[in-house]
Amino acid sequence: MSESTFATLVSRWYERNARDLPWREPGVGAWAILVSEVMLQQTPVVRVLPAWAAWLDRWPTPAALAEDTPAEAIRMWGRLGYPRRAVRLRDCAAAIVERHGGEVPDRLDQLLALPGVGTYTARAVASFAFGQRHPVVDTNVRRVVCRAIAGQPDAGPATRPADLVATEELLPAEPAAAALASAAFMELGAVVCTARTPRCVVCPVESSCAWRASGQEVPAGPTRRPQRYAGTDRQVRGLLLAVLREATGPVPLQRLDQVWHDDVQRARALAGLVTDGLVEPDGEESFRLAGDGPPIPRPRP
Ligand code: SF4
Repeated sequence: MSESTFATLVSRWYERNARDLPWREPGVGAWAILVSEVMLQQTPVVRVLPAWAAWLDRWPTPAALAEDTPAEAIRMWGRLGYPRRAVRLRDCAAAIVERHGGEVPDRLDQLLALPGVGTYTARAVASFAFGQRHPVVDTNVRRVVCRAIAGQPDAGPATRPADLVATEELLPAEPAAAALASAAFMELGAVVCTARTPRCVVCPVESSCAWRASGQEVPAGPTRRPQRYAGTDRQVRGLLLAVLREATGPVPLQRLDQVWHDDVQRARALAGLVTDGLVEPDGEESFRLAGDGPPIPRPRP
């Protein structure tokens, strides 16, 4: 099967079966698509849906978000996880205002230069918002390409230049068709060619899939152990942030000390939040979300 046939089959399947997601609506805009891509990187669709709607309701443009504080971005991020994304998204909004007059740029190099926008996100925005031809490679796409073309059951964890090349070779030449195919590959990996339970019988490329033809089984069990959360620094960071998010200003250290029993781990988690730019000290004995309240006076040199 030629590359163009592969893309055509998956694209046709997508047009009939794509999930109805609001960031796929026509005319939704590049900013809304960028926000969705950042949120979806490490959070399931079902949790992103209400957070995405609330975020855009409050900050419908990059300029609106850039005018607000990092603290408010962290508050709105709520419990989506990996909250550094909130601060990076605000930094990104500020850069869009400063460098591009408040409009999300359509050039790949300009997207790649924005804070928090990496290889995947830049190409996703260029493709889905601006209809350009770029390989958009996330975990799902890598798995589809790995199985259907290379006949391997699973791709490794990192996106490599070779993944971009392998995916680009499958894209139609015409930009709009390529952008559609990119969305279709992602959807196929998300809902049909899943990691542990691929539904080959409903797959549009079953008859030509190299992995299916090889007769191999899905590897038993996860290739990566599920990440432990209970008792980790991540959990402690979450507990500290929950207290700081609900406060309207600085929180005494004494109050933060109550969230976790292990002094060393709690101090390490708090220091990590400060290092990551999510939290800042307010005097010697209290902390606040980054940028929450008036500027902190700096000591004179
Ligand atoms: S036939 Fe099965 S393994 Fe091959 S791409 Fe489709 S779902 Fe994935």
